[in-house]
Amino acid sequence: MTPIPLVTHGECPHCGQPLLGLATARCSHCGRSLVPHFESYPSVASRLAEMAPGWTVAMLLDWVRPRPAQLAWVHQNQQWPLLDHFVSNGLWEAWQRWERTRRTRGVSLQLDEVHLDSVHLVGLGEWQDWAQVRIHGHRASFEWSLHSHLALSGSTSPAPFTELWWLQPTGAPIHAAEIRCPSCGGEAAFNQRACGYCGIGVVRPLGPWQLARVQVLQEGLGETAWGERGTEGWEWVMENLTC
Ligand SMILES: [Zn+2]
Ligand SMILES: [Zn+2]
Repeated sequence: MTPIPLVTHGECPHCGQPLLGLATARCSHCGRSLVPHFESYPSVASRLAEMAPGWTVAMLLDWVRPRPAQLAWVHQNQQWPLLDHFVSNGLWEAWQRWERTRRTRGVSLQLDEVHLDSVHLVGLGEWQDWAQVRIHGHRASFEWSLHSHLALSGSTSPAPFTELWWLQPTGAPIHAAEIRCPSCGGEAAFNQRACGYCGIGVVRPLGPWQLARVQVLQEGLGETAWGERGTEGWEWVMENLTC
């Protein structure tokens, strides 16, 4: 009888046991985190390239890095449709609804001074196409009164936050990662309405990845009432994304 070879994706750097899946960057034997080792497994690279041809782990992490600050900008400026480029409609529309609800109460959620400490790939769907990244950084995150302009809760100076982001490849080509003028091809910033070179209105194509779900693991300094509200406000589970 021919032995059936055990399919593994690499070895745990802590206990040496084989890694049997890619869905979570945690060893199923010793329970320890495989981050950042996970990112260098050849099978991680090949699975990522399979779901999003041409993409490497480094490219994906580079693509993610500017997004938290862009999200904060949209929150400050209420330009929700700009998020079409990298956030699923269902998710940004839910954020917009929550912000509208806050505003009917005379408050607004502000995100500011975003600084990223690390972005790591922490999971890849093996049967469905999704990548999970963990973002750790600092930001000011608070609710403030639209009338008194005073912060009501949260932290007005940068405090630690950790989020898990589920990203789905859209099939859009890699060059769609950059926002360019449809007329002269000049590069445009995420929040730019008109081309800085020729003045033509900038079209924001669907980007190569869409953020489908965000889970806040940490916001601020711990288990405050704000942390609970923040989680409720930011987490939105996409029903057809099972992982
Ligand atoms: Zn292990
Ligand atoms: Zn132009």
